Amino acid sequence: MAKRDYYDILGVRRNSTQEEIKRAYKKLAFEYHPDRNPGNVKSEERFKDINAAYQVLSNPEKRAQYDSFGHISGEGFFSDVDFTTNFNDLFGNLFEEVFNAGRRRHAERGRDLKYNLELAFEEAAFGVEKEVVIPKRVMCSECGGGGAAPGGEIVCVMCGGRGEVRYSEGFFAISRTCSNCRGPGRVIKIPCPLCSGEGLITSEQRIKVKVPAGVSDGARLRIRGEGEAGYNGGPSGDLYVEIYVKEHQFFKREGKDVFCDVPVSFVQAALGAEMEIPTLEGKTILRIPPGTQPGQSFRLKGKGVASLNGRGKGDLYIKAQVEVPVKLTSKQKQLLEEFARSGEGDENPAVKKFFEKFRELFG
Ligand SMILES: [Zn+2]
Ligand SMILES: [Zn+2]
Repeated sequence: MAKRDYYDILGVRRNSTQEEIKRAYKKLAFEYHPDRNPGNVKSEERFKDINAAYQVLSNPEKRAQYDSFGHISGEGFFSDVDFTTNFNDLFGNLFEEVFNAGRRRHAERGRDLKYNLELAFEEAAFGVEKEVVIPKRVMCSECGGGGAAPGGEIVCVMCGGRGEVRYSEGFFAISRTCSNCRGPGRVIKIPCPLCSGEGLITSEQRIKVKVPAGVSDGARLRIRGEGEAGYNGGPSGDLYVEIYVKEHQFFKREGKDVFCDVPVSFVQAALGAEMEIPTLEGKTILRIPPGTQPGQSFRLKGKGVASLNGRGKGDLYIKAQVEVPVKLTSKQKQLLEEFARSGEGDENPAVKKFFEKFRELFG
């Protein structure tokens, strides 16, 4: 089951004040406290839920985050939603549902929908507003969700419109939900031609999705009420947008930090150089010092990705990948041999140290 809405758990409105939330929490916490309900597993579960809801809603920052993105785990990732039940994959069985007139006669929450949204690396880094087109079930415009053609609904003959049937058994009067109409007291004789009696039709909806800066691959955003319409006046489900971030030809991301490998010629590495390098915001100049080693990293502070909570940015790490030259001309070979002869060994301290130890060991 997807997690219950925190506002529902505390029985408060979405615009309730902190004081109202606190009052609701105190009342419920008192009522369901394990000390007052020893051994009652249900009230213990309820008590846990109440506390979890209050922890989020009593904290203005967490509450704002929850309002925008739904249930979020401690790390700020949208990961703790259970997707195993009640899901109707958008391109899965959406259109395969079999019509069965008069089947759903009680209010029922609409199903949640899931949409996979692919983002460019930069879009995830800087945030973006996307419009997605989603075919989903919405209330039928023809019958207003009732499922009957005009004049196509009659009062149920079994219950006379009461929705329940009474039996008398001696002193007792038992009432049961009417088996003919299953509750509403009316029966559809002529189903609505547009929705075939279901009360919902499939229609393409354009939905704006606001993706926050710093969102990472695999994150899920919840958009309240943008799932499928409910049946018979039930509330709409939610839309879950799962984020896929495309790979970048230069950059890799780990959380807020961005990494980039830049090839450096061995001459640049030896002599030091000013190099043009890519950053998320465009190109810039990086000075590498003389004697830069292969794999050496240079940190550009604040050039990473924005933090999801809006505070601070990660860094960009440029890694020097020193390239050993290939395809030398005879002139270049000559120059390098000359270079090798001219040295006294101090230009390669690691090589020098290794051979000193080598000689110690092998004589
Ligand atoms: Zn209809
Ligand atoms: Zn009936």
